[in-house]
Amino acid sequence: MAKTCVYLGDKLAKYGFPDGHPFSSDRYSVYRDTMQDTGLADRCCVQSPCSATVEQLKRFHTAEHVANVKHCSKIGRGYLDAGDTPAFPGVYEAAAAVVGTTLAAADSIMKGDCRHAFSPIGGLHHARRNIASGFCVFNDCGAAIEHLFSVYKLDRILYVDIDAHHGDGVFYSYESDERLIFLDFHQHSKTLYPGTGKASETGIGAAQGTKLNIEMLPGSGDEAFFEEWEKGRRFIDRFAPEFVLLQCGVDSLHGDPITDLHYTDRVHRFVTEQLISYAELHCKGRLLALGGGGYNLGNIAKGWISVTRAMVDA
Ligand SMILES: [Zn+2]
Repeated sequence: MAKTCVYLGDKLAKYGFPDGHPFSSDRYSVYRDTMQDTGLADRCCVQSPCSATVEQLKRFHTAEHVANVKHCSKIGRGYLDAGDTPAFPGVYEAAAAVVGTTLAAADSIMKGDCRHAFSPIGGLHHARRNIASGFCVFNDCGAAIEHLFSVYKLDRILYVDIDAHHGDGVFYSYESDERLIFLDFHQHSKTLYPGTGKASETGIGAAQGTKLNIEMLPGSGDEAFFEEWEKGRRFIDRFAPEFVLLQCGVDSLHGDPITDLHYTDRVHRFVTEQLISYAELHCKGRLLALGGGGYNLGNIAKGWISVTRAMVDA
């Protein structure tokens, strides 16, 4: 049994916005090429992307949002949010392929085909249940959480997010749901989109204390992250989840054009290794990593490959 499944296929390259938008199709190509050039693809179980069904999308999203994306996809222009996320011809199919691939990766882990999996274009953590947001048309993280709750009857999932941006689409969808343990390291809410994820936001009602937002000052590097990680580690050690999701956005690496964090890919490798040990302890090693943001192509190659390599080497 191969321990790590990765998803490669041109369907994933279709999720890229046109006209010089930072979220381009090249993000996928760089990952695929680096996987092949380094020989890492040969050490993984390589799977093809899948498309999510309308029913799977509607487990997380409202029927109105799904219908609106379908409509805008046919027209092929306009915006799916206030102005960050443009529609293009085929955007529905492209976004459904990202979600379907993340769900297939979750299935592979749950069925025991692999222990760890990586869905490179996944991690679209800004989309809300009822609207697209911040380059994210559908939220594959949320769709995977709903899939695991409803199909596999799990009732405790850990979501860790090291993207420079706060995972607001996940956080606010589960703010009062204690079944989702949420840990998010992001650039300080006053200094970066979406401006949410204050340290004081720790969940509401029965979910109070199941969420931890850690705000990193602009300019923070590896040492600052490792120091804060200790706080995060003590937090997750209080729980025993049945599945671990990692949104490993690489826009937190030094040199990203739209953020101000300065990690190296040591952080991405370290967090993956930590979560593998944690998942081995609590949930048969079940760890699904979702690529997330990152708009410097060299950093995609470094960061996503470091996560994949940590999984393969485990
Ligand atoms: Zn981001």
